[in-house]
Amino acid sequence: MPVDDTPQTKSPDASRAEAVAVLETLQLEAFDRGEFSEGEARRIQDAREGKAPDQAFFDQFLQHMGNAFGTAEFTAQVVKDALQNINVTAKEIESRFEDPTWFSLMKFLATRIDTILEDATKKPSRKIIFGTLPTGQVNGAAIDINNKDYYLIVIDNGVMGFANMLAKAIASSFPVLSDKDEIRLSSEIGEIKRYLDENPKVSMRLLDLLCAYVIVGHPHASEPYLPPPPTMRFAEIYRDTMELFVLSHEYGHCTLDHLCQSEKAESEADGQEAGLPPRWLKEFEADDFGTQVALAAMAAQGFDMSLTYAGVEMIFHGFELIERTVSVLQLGEVRRNIVDSHPPAELRRAVLRDRTSFMQNAEREAAAKQLVQIVNDIVEIHWQKMYPILLKMHSDGMRPRPRWVETYHPEVAKLLEPILANPPGGGDSSVMPA
Ligand SMILES: [Zn+2]
Repeated sequence: MPVDDTPQTKSPDASRAEAVAVLETLQLEAFDRGEFSEGEARRIQDAREGKAPDQAFFDQFLQHMGNAFGTAEFTAQVVKDALQNINVTAKEIESRFEDPTWFSLMKFLATRIDTILEDATKKPSRKIIFGTLPTGQVNGAAIDINNKDYYLIVIDNGVMGFANMLAKAIASSFPVLSDKDEIRLSSEIGEIKRYLDENPKVSMRLLDLLCAYVIVGHPHASEPYLPPPPTMRFAEIYRDTMELFVLSHEYGHCTLDHLCQSEKAESEADGQEAGLPPRWLKEFEADDFGTQVALAAMAAQGFDMSLTYAGVEMIFHGFELIERTVSVLQLGEVRRNIVDSHPPAELRRAVLRDRTSFMQNAEREAAAKQLVQIVNDIVEIHWQKMYPILLKMHSDGMRPRPRWVETYHPEVAKLLEPILANPPGGGDSSVMPA
């Protein structure tokens, strides 16, 4: 890590205020570009004018709650309790333009991550300011804001909602074997396929989610629903794992000195040696870090890695489904929508599986891989059902929001074709031995 030779004249409070100002500027720039939804924009406009949160915030909060809990109907008590919980953390909100719902969730996840990192030798070298932003990718970003005390982590303002709805859609694909409040779901793929053929609604909900995010701009534009209790409990495990992974991945960039490394020096040499863009190698490292932290945080809650590892791969399936949806709506076919900041999701999955030494136990590893295979098969079954509909939507003139397609780099796609044809870790998970 390079030594910071700037004179340390700023007080911690001044450093913090400067870091927050950077976040607020980013959020206002996105606001001025019209990237926030109508409800969010009203809330930000109010905050800009110094008004207290009012109906705009409340409406938006209800919409998030509706999607989280599967209904638009709430008792007054449920809303009151939830608002009270949010108010506790809302006091810590760093940016005036922040959505309290997502901020509160990020802080909760950060607490779980910090607990895991307390025992670790590697911790973020600076403190972190958290925020959400319409980034235009199902993702987050860790940013060096040229501040000696703080890094900035921003998460796309749709990614947490997307993880929640994706977990519900995938968990709903398993036939429920017991109506008691316990997790007993069939994991026999033939049975799952029959179930999905007989219940096309499950695939249509996933399609609804993808279109809400890609066309309307926010996952919560999809129709809310509440799966039965055993399915919901299964979904919650995957939702939590995905959310922890997304945030831990960004912690990884802050912890592994990715942000203050001299870009042109050693990392570029490393990257060229492997034939991959240097930034991608950092992404693989952050994925590895994020996986270990997310799985450890879930294990601390009593969930075994043989169950939760599939949650990490599930978020990559989510990225990949978004990539495919954008591609079909934009181009009328599935083309790899490769961006230069992050490697394609299928490559990240393959690399992660190749380098993950997370199990240290053959039996657990076999169980984890079996579940991963089932999730992979489920996603493909859904895709077969969704693809013709997306094609029809494309020919009817439906297109992704501009922010999803601005990052397409055909020349990068061409360069990487041979690597993707033969990725590390044996390639397509459908040929992975059980
Ligand atoms: Zn990253």
